[in-house]
Amino acid sequence: MLVPKLDPSGRDREYKQRNFEEISQIVHSWLFADDVGHGEMDRDILGLDPLSSKGWQSMGVLHFLGLKKEFKGIFRDTDLNQAIIHLKNDNQDFSFIIELLENTSENSDASLIESLHETGKSRDIDFEERYKLRLGELVDTDGQGNQTQSRKEQSILRGIPFKGVAETECAICHRTLPTDLMVAAHIKPRSKCSTSERKNPNVVMPVCKVGCDDFFEKGYIIVNSGGFIRINDEMNHSSQLKSILTETVGNKCTHFNKETAQFFAYKRDSLKRK
Ligand SMILES: [Zn+2]
Repeated sequence: MLVPKLDPSGRDREYKQRNFEEISQIVHSWLFADDVGHGEMDRDILGLDPLSSKGWQSMGVLHFLGLKKEFKGIFRDTDLNQAIIHLKNDNQDFSFIIELLENTSENSDASLIESLHETGKSRDIDFEERYKLRLGELVDTDGQGNQTQSRKEQSILRGIPFKGVAETECAICHRTLPTDLMVAAHIKPRSKCSTSERKNPNVVMPVCKVGCDDFFEKGYIIVNSGGFIRINDEMNHSSQLKSILTETVGNKCTHFNKETAQFFAYKRDSLKRK
């Protein structure tokens, strides 16, 4: 079969508003169904009123990825694995599209957990034992027996920076605090991460719950392109908050490096005033 030519629009506005899950579903629907239009995707996948969205949200996402009308339904008679093989064999670079499609397969959650688990074990010989303990703790906290995907994922991600140590240094304020006051915080929000980014243990950093976790997540402070902590001038701060934040300003984020710089850049970009 002939795969059409990718034709990316260069406009990322709609794309950036969507999370990885939504983008996966839009791409899957566009390639595998020939009777679903942009308006229906806006309604069924994004929960929008197609009369006002006019299908422009899904269309913007697809056009950014280069999937214009020529791609509609090209895999309608093909199963997912076959489709992925077709795309892999094509001369064009479909690696990100393939990652999106793989995310829609039934076993994608299990394979993500497995991959993170392997990473954990390769970094810590006692990983397995501690992982079970952490899962147990998390189950006790909310009184529920089922171990969901995100819970397993968080248990593993938490295990990698903290191993079994009693105290850890916060990547932002540099205070060394008991590990139960620390969290493994996503630099780039988890929902926006692709599968390969979720598999990367460096997408999280150890930060304290005594301020830094919320300050960073909510965008009161940012890590600039040189890796230094700065107050986010795009937000309004009360004078008392400002004096708290000032204590960390100028610190070098200990989790900033060549690999993580892109995650911090994403976070800064997402906080810019629209
Ligand atoms: Zn801190």
